[in-house]
Amino acid sequence: MNEEKKQLITVESGEAEQPFRWSAGIYGSKFLTELRDNKRFVGIRCPRCGKVYMPPRRVCGPCFVELTELVPVSDEGGIITYTVVSFGFVDPATGKQKPVPYGYAAIKLDGADTYLLHFLDETDPAKIRVGARVKAVFEEERTGSMLDIRYFQLLERP
Ligand SMILES: [Zn+2]
Repeated sequence: MNEEKKQLITVESGEAEQPFRWSAGIYGSKFLTELRDNKRFVGIRCPRCGKVYMPPRRVCGPCFVELTELVPVSDEGGIITYTVVSFGFVDPATGKQKPVPYGYAAIKLDGADTYLLHFLDETDPAKIRVGARVKAVFEEERTGSMLDIRYFQLLERP
C-alpha cells in the first residue's frame, strides 16, 4: 500500500446534516407515494417474463425490456428468511443507536416475485419461522419512506 492510501480515512457524519439528496425515480416515487397516501404496495410487471418487481423498477434485467405496467401488490405475504438483531449499532438512517433486539426479515408479498427487507414485530426467534404469514403495519404519520411501514406483524406464531 502506498503512502497516500495509508493516509485515507473514512469520516462518519453521525448526526450531522447530509448535504445531498437523491431522486427516488419515477417508479420509486410512485411506490413511496402509495405507501404514504394509501398504505398500499405497488409493483411492476415485465411484459416478457411476467415477473413482478416490488418495489418497481424501470427495466427487467434478464429480459432487458422497459417496464411500464404497475400492478397492485398485497400488504400480506410470507417470510423468506429472517434474523433477530441483538448487537447494537449506530443506525445510518438516524445517526442514533438502534434499539435492540429487533426482528428483521426478507418478505415476499402476495403478488410480487421479489422480496423486501424490513422489521418484524417479534424478537423471539422461536416464534418466527420461514414461510410464516405477515402483514404490514403502517405508521400513523407517514412521510414517503420505507419507514412508513412500522414493521410486519406476524399473523401466526407457533
Ligand atoms: Zn422479464
